[in-house]
Parts: sequence; structure tokens; C-alpha cells
Amino acid sequence: MKKNELTDVLKESAELARDVGQVLKELSRRGVAGVTAAPHVESEEPVEPEPAEPGGGLEVVVPPRDLGKEARLAHLEKQALACRRCRLATGRKNVAFGTGNANARVMLIGEGPGAEEDRTGIPFVGRAGQLLNRMLASIGLRREDVYIANIVKCRPPGNRDPLPEEVAACRPYLEAQFDTIAPTAVVSLGRPSAQSLLNVKTSLSRLRSSLHKFRDTDLIVTYHPAFLLRNPVKKRESWADLMLLVDLLLKKKIIPDLPDAWWRR
Ligand code: URA
Repeated sequence: MKKNELTDVLKESAELARDVGQVLKELSRRGVAGVTAAPHVESEEPVEPEPAEPGGGLEVVVPPRDLGKEARLAHLEKQALACRRCRLATGRKNVAFGTGNANARVMLIGEGPGAEEDRTGIPFVGRAGQLLNRMLASIGLRREDVYIANIVKCRPPGNRDPLPEEVAACRPYLEAQFDTIAPTAVVSLGRPSAQSLLNVKTSLSRLRSSLHKFRDTDLIVTYHPAFLLRNPVKKRESWADLMLLVDLLLKKKIIPDLPDAWWRR
């Protein structure tokens, strides 16, 4: 419910309570058995509840730029922890907002928290996350070097794909998070992430192997690590996607050379 709708409901409830009070008072005055009206207290204008967080759980307030990256992310995360913008809020144990380096040049964006992420509030810590760590290590990146987030911050029940309205509700968090990190390259993990970030319905296999743009930043699409756990034969293709990323980072001089110990991995 939007803030102005909530205000309307509160006003209507206050008016209704006043009307009921009048009726009870009249019944009591007429001596109707069992009805005693409470003494009337002139009520003030309905008081809106103080929002617990900057956006009150419904709006996403974009933090000011001069706050600095860490503080802006903390500001957004605080709002996400109290978020009630979609139904996923009702089933979550924790919000897995995002993790990693606020100054990262590479941001990875997955789909949504699974059971382990819901339990810990940290994206990609389950089996898929462990494979993601190995994929990063294979190109010389540590988890602390990158920033990892999802298109939805709360776990969809039974690990189903997030629904379009859930992705849309979470989008302001992702965009503000992305604009704060301002990475040089984005890696989209899996079909729901890629289709949502690029706003297309194209299959993952057709989106792979080329450079795309997300908010003017180069984006590479690859398989979700959970898919790779089920289909290890596809790891070869995901390696090629990682090469695209390495190539991009070399061209942009984010890394000076091929990752350390490249040929020994
Ligand atoms: N899968 C995702 O897409 N994100 C996570 O954080 C974990 C599993």
C-alpha cells in the first residue's frame, strides 16, 4: 500500500470510529439496554505512524551522493531490512541485501536468495555461492574484490523464479545500489537476472557471448552457478564468458595483466 493510501485509510477509520461513537451515544441516551457510550473525547487529526526507516518500508529513499559509498549502501540496506514493498517480505527470515566491496569494479547480479542466503542474510553463500567463489578465483578475483547482489533481496518461496511484480518492487534498491557502486563491468548470473536487467525475453543462450549495457555499463551474461552445479558440462561455456570479462577488464586497464598464476589453475 502506498503512503497516501495508508493516510486515506487512517482518516477513513478515524471518521468511522467517530460515527460509531455517535450512534452508541444516541442509543445510550435513548436507554437501549446494554449500551453505554464511552465519554466522548474530541479526537485530534489522525496521527500517522512514524516510519521506522527512511522510506517507511514502502518507499525507497535514494541516499544523497555526498554520503560516500559505504554510508549510502548502509542507508539503503537499512531501508531494505524494513521493506514491505512486495509479498516476499512476509516469508523472509532475513533480507540478503548485498555483499562485498563498495569500491568494486565488478558487480555480479544473481536472481534471489535461497535457503542459506535467507538464513544468513548474505547473497551467494550456499553451494552455488561456493562455486561462484571458485569461478571468481579462476580469474584471479576474490569475493572481497567484487560486489554481489540479486535482483530480489528476499527469498522467493520454494526457490521459484521471482515474479515480475517482485522484481519491479525491488528494482529501486538494485538501481540505487548499482549507482552507488558504479562498477566498470556487470556480470548477470542466469536467465531471470539477465532478462530483468536487460528488460528482454530473449533466451540466455542468445544473450551470452556478447557485451550488453545496463545503465550505461558493460554487462556480460553467463549461466547461474546453481545451473552449472546441475549441468557441469556447461562450465566450459561459462569459462568463455569469464574470458569476456577478463578481456574487458584488461581493455579498461582494471587489471594490468592476465590474472596471476593463470596457467596453473
Ligand atoms: N542464487 C541466487 O541467485 N542468489 C543467491 O544469493 C543465492 C543463490
